[in-house]
Amino acid sequence: MPETKQKKPAAPKKPAATAESKLAKLGLRTDMDLVLHLPMRYEDETEVLTIREACMRGGEVSQVEGVVTSNEIAYKPRRQLLVHIADETGDIQLRFMNFYGSQVKQLAEGTRVRARGEVRHGFFGAEMVHPAYKIVNEGAPLPTSLTPVYPSGEGLSQLVLRRAIADAMKRVDWTDTLPPEVLKTMRLHPLETAVRTLHYPPPQIDENALIDRTHPAWTRVKFDELLAQQLSLKRAQRARRAKGAAKLGKVGTLSSAFEASLPFKLTKAQQRVLKEIREDIKQPYPMQRLLQGDVGSGKTIVAALSAAQAIDSGYQAALMAPTEILADQHFRKIAAWLEPLGVKVAWLTGSLKKKEKEAAYALVESGAAQLVIGTHAIIQDTVQFAKLGLVIVDEQHRFGVGQRLTLRNKGNGDNVPHQLMMSATPIPRTLAMTYYADLEVSVIDELPPGRTPIVTAVVDQNRRDEVIARVHAAALEGRQAYWVCPLIEESEALQLQTATETYETLAAALPDLRVGLVHGRLKPAEKAEVMDAFAAGDIHVLVATTVIEVGVDVPNSSLMVIEHAERFGLSQLHQLRGRVGRGSAASVCLLLYQSPLGPVAKQRLMTMRETTDGFEIARRDLEIRGPGEFLGSRQSGQAMLRFADLETDGWLVDQARDVAHALLHEATPANKATVEAHLERWLGGREEFLKV
Ligand code: ADP
Ligand code: MG
Repeated sequence: MPETKQKKPAAPKKPAATAESKLAKLGLRTDMDLVLHLPMRYEDETEVLTIREACMRGGEVSQVEGVVTSNEIAYKPRRQLLVHIADETGDIQLRFMNFYGSQVKQLAEGTRVRARGEVRHGFFGAEMVHPAYKIVNEGAPLPTSLTPVYPSGEGLSQLVLRRAIADAMKRVDWTDTLPPEVLKTMRLHPLETAVRTLHYPPPQIDENALIDRTHPAWTRVKFDELLAQQLSLKRAQRARRAKGAAKLGKVGTLSSAFEASLPFKLTKAQQRVLKEIREDIKQPYPMQRLLQGDVGSGKTIVAALSAAQAIDSGYQAALMAPTEILADQHFRKIAAWLEPLGVKVAWLTGSLKKKEKEAAYALVESGAAQLVIGTHAIIQDTVQFAKLGLVIVDEQHRFGVGQRLTLRNKGNGDNVPHQLMMSATPIPRTLAMTYYADLEVSVIDELPPGRTPIVTAVVDQNRRDEVIARVHAAALEGRQAYWVCPLIEESEALQLQTATETYETLAAALPDLRVGLVHGRLKPAEKAEVMDAFAAGDIHVLVATTVIEVGVDVPNSSLMVIEHAERFGLSQLHQLRGRVGRGSAASVCLLLYQSPLGPVAKQRLMTMRETTDGFEIARRDLEIRGPGEFLGSRQSGQAMLRFADLETDGWLVDQARDVAHALLHEATPANKATVEAHLERWLGGREEFLKV
């Protein structure tokens, strides 16, 4: 059937190889991949209407069949192909604006054509514009099921996809991996039936249920997918528990001296999570814990206290942060806490000079440095730890799965270091249960005392002057401000330019204040210098690109201005706003926007105005954006869940978890075989990534 889409079909020289590589581009390599490439919608070609009926229905997509009675290329108002077809009830025009010479020949007079499209009533009678059509013989049978329309890639026609999938459907081994009892109690369709229904639904099916994925055929596929994920996560958890780890059980002189030296008392929440971590790292198998706490909740001190326990126990600890600014800040803060107590802290980032790097490596390798702080430079191959016991990853969602794996492999011998991951981005429950089933979670659900809530206002761009006046007033009261420049995703150069311009305008508008500028292109030493000056109060207004998004902690700053706030995502805005409200002064966040605002941007800014609760913001973000945001691009890029939707399929997650538990818990040979077969079918070789 010649498809009549506008796109020019690529002229393949080696058709087989090309189709294969195009399929591979969509991730369709095995028969199972193909079979699970499910339609996004359907076309109903099961019915042919008479031309009269179709014309009467009008406005709807319908299929007619007729013989070509005329075929001409018209030039008014532009070049187009006009074909008339007729059956015994009437006549309709097919109009093509883009067409090939071959089509003109193909649709010669006397040819029988089945055309499918929306009937419109134009000036010259009924017509279909750019119908899908195929040439048929008289009496050619109609399909008995709906025709699937698949997600496709460039140059890959539906025809090729349909054929590849239909072939794979014949080859796949359809033995059901689920035990009959499970199918029965959960009332699940056999997999083959379910998949077949999804590819080739009978015409009378509830098409809405197919499209919104609530049909029982979908339930079966989603359940299988979730079960595979749960099985795999639980297995990873067991494998981890089977590994050895150093017992970091000693809360010794360093820990106590450190705690005693703190200028504040830990909040109840901090004490609780610290206790959880302390218990965990005493165990002879590696901890894998996520420390979750909203921006400003005080995670750093918990991390430092955990590190102290590792050091007390005779091991090294490493702290990795996603940006140099943040790593630098951690280094200064933590070194200031721990070095007076006799701890040697090494500093390691990519920007160090060769000599400095080598010196740092030596400290780490000899064990002279008990704590290493830095960026991902600390996971380079060249870095050898003498005795790494605990790894702390700040803003963990900024790192890829691969990076976390490498860090975990930095232990020596069979010992895997304990892992503490920190994040201010809360993970909704269903997400935590699926993606992070292998993770313990500690939550700091309380801010340190004495904080006043941040007031957020949404301000039109053209009231910039008032905003500048406000910055001025804050500075006169001895407070400091951030001024965040617009995110320009397309171009870093442009972003830089905007930042520089903003800096110049502000410096000119506020001649009596000291204005600073920090952005990603500055050398680390220059960045550090600006940040130092800001932290010391020597700069009143810090103009910044999003480099300050994560982690920066200057409690005296109480005003945050974000330009073009409509361009930022919710979690990013929340992170940015979290840079203020860290001291006792009342803080304000001004979100400048350019009107008109699109509906999504409006919703985001309203959310920011309404709440400062990170969990609530994350929940709404999940609604607006889907789960990718929480996992970091590289993790979600694995597309671990293609079918199940965490928002709507929470109940299935629970069931899949129970079944996974039962299958693994009763390790009968039959259950083991089920687990193997199911994982093989659903994950093939892709299990490694789930283990992080
Ligand atoms: P985050 O969780 O966002 O990483 P930080 O660890 O940077 O937060 O802490 C935010 C600020 O709160 C820091 O200035 C820190 O010194 C301070 N802080 C942390 N814990 C307490 C506490 N228990 N009492 C008072 N201030 C605290
Ligand atoms: Mg932090």
